Amino acid sequence: MPLKASRTIWHDGELVRWEQATVHVLSHALHYGSSVFEGIRVYKTPDGPVGFRLTDHIERMYNSARVYQLKIPYPPETLVAACKEVIRDNDLMEGAYIRPIAFRGYGEMGVAGNPEDPARCSIAAWEWGSYLGEGGIEHGVDVCVSSWQRVAPNTVPALAKAGGNYLSSILVTLEARRLGFTEGIALNTEGFVSEGAGENLFLVQDGKIHTPPVAASILAGLTRDAVIKLARSLGLEVVEQHIPRELLYIADEVFLTGTAAEVTPVRSVDRITVGSGKRGPVTERLQNEFFGLFDGSTSDRWGWLEPILDASDEQTDCPVAL
Ligand code: PMP
Repeated sequence: MPLKASRTIWHDGELVRWEQATVHVLSHALHYGSSVFEGIRVYKTPDGPVGFRLTDHIERMYNSARVYQLKIPYPPETLVAACKEVIRDNDLMEGAYIRPIAFRGYGEMGVAGNPEDPARCSIAAWEWGSYLGEGGIEHGVDVCVSSWQRVAPNTVPALAKAGGNYLSSILVTLEARRLGFTEGIALNTEGFVSEGAGENLFLVQDGKIHTPPVAASILAGLTRDAVIKLARSLGLEVVEQHIPRELLYIADEVFLTGTAAEVTPVRSVDRITVGSGKRGPVTERLQNEFFGLFDGSTSDRWGWLEPILDASDEQTDCPVAL
């Protein structure tokens, strides 16, 4: 999906023009994948635009940075406020996708980099529609199990959302698209279902919801966590357990979750129809619950909706270098 450029980007503490948010070609992250990042959605609600689990995303980014001894030279609150500022400055009140990134910049060129060097840090935001296609949310998508496995435990840590991890996701997605599928699902090195290239996976069997545990080489998705909480609040049973590949073919329903993919039904796996081949009733119920958060029909009992036009953030005092 082509990216729709916005006007400004928060770049190391100041707002610069979109075109001016550049880095040196010898930036460490470009060579070794040493970046950590997030994807956050902004939704329009009856009470104004909100960042969905904005603070949780920023906290996850700090945890990812911790794994790689990457020092983000701001407290998390500064980045939360800066995300809101980018939305306001670019007038993206109708909904957007925010991409904060922290990375090892230009400096030492050794593999480890210097853990004492402050990370470079940027936040961009742009308008973004449905990641897995407009009809995907309603009709479901066709996926395949990839011939590429997910990163093994104790190799590249799956729980850290680092740039380098996405080499695995790139291979999974490229293969899936080449073979005519919308998305690829990776197994872990034990052969159990792990996750999609950029989404967590759920399946429904006999009314019970199953999803792989965090030890299955997945990213602990915040949408995954939200869906688990929403499902349990509806009285549905959710179990985190290892999923053998063939359960994908037998399941009544399969769906993917992620910031970009939101809650997307899967209608076939490896060209084998899942259930009725249409969005299943449990998936639809969970979609209604999830999207209901943004039209007010689901009450936000967890404090996930963080107002973009928050009066306490108005003095962010961010220098503008335009
Ligand atoms: N797994 C991977 C590999 C991802 O890139 C993403 C997207 N961040 C997810 C799962 C879903 O995570 P979240 O719901 O926090 O966006």
